[in-house]
Amino acid sequence: MTPSQRQRFRERLVELKAEILAVGDIAPEAARQDTTAVGNDEDAQPLAEMSQSIASSRNRNRTGVLARVLAALARLDEDPDSFGLCAECEEPIAPKRIELMPYVELCVDCQHAQDGPAKKGGRRHLTDFR
Ligand SMILES: [Zn+2]
Repeated sequence: MTPSQRQRFRERLVELKAEILAVGDIAPEAARQDTTAVGNDEDAQPLAEMSQSIASSRNRNRTGVLARVLAALARLDEDPDSFGLCAECEEPIAPKRIELMPYVELCVDCQHAQDGPAKKGGRRHLTDFR
């Protein structure tokens, strides 16, 4: 990733951060896109919930997204070369994926690996797919 690309993502992250802070806890688009996923098993498995929110519910938890935005900004400052690389396998993350989620930490493969165990019952995604 070139410095100018990084600069662009930095600007988007800063915008996102301002957006989240301005909106508060729950944005309208979060409710629209993710109603089926809300309130399933957050209480039962806080740790799993954490990886799940990283996994597939980017709108579900604004606080979680904000934390990731801040972490991404910190990465840009402290270790710019690692920005855009998967935190797990250190392979470059697909550009489209970063475009969608400039704060993303994992490549698709590692994301799926994390997603796997959470899908055991299939409950969470059932309604999404039909
Ligand atoms: Zn990876």
